[in-house]
Amino acid sequence: MQCPFCLSEKDEQAPVCANCGRDTAVPEALLAERAELLQKRDKLRVELERAQARLATKGGRLSRSRPA
Ligand SMILES: [Zn+2]
Repeated sequence: MQCPFCLSEKDEQAPVCANCGRDTAVPEALLAERAELLQKRDKLRVELERAQARLATKGGRLSRSRPA
């Protein structure tokens, strides 16, 4: 497997990376969860931008003037 921190090849049985010495047993699961959350965040951010764009095109009554 690959170390999620330094990306070097690591013994799958070893609890810590031989290269950077970090614990890879727990972080692997946490990193997967984190990646999922980041994807959700990015998706929500895109939806928010689309919603704001829709509001901005609705006559401008709801859009606030932006600082230059
Ligand atoms: Zn490492």
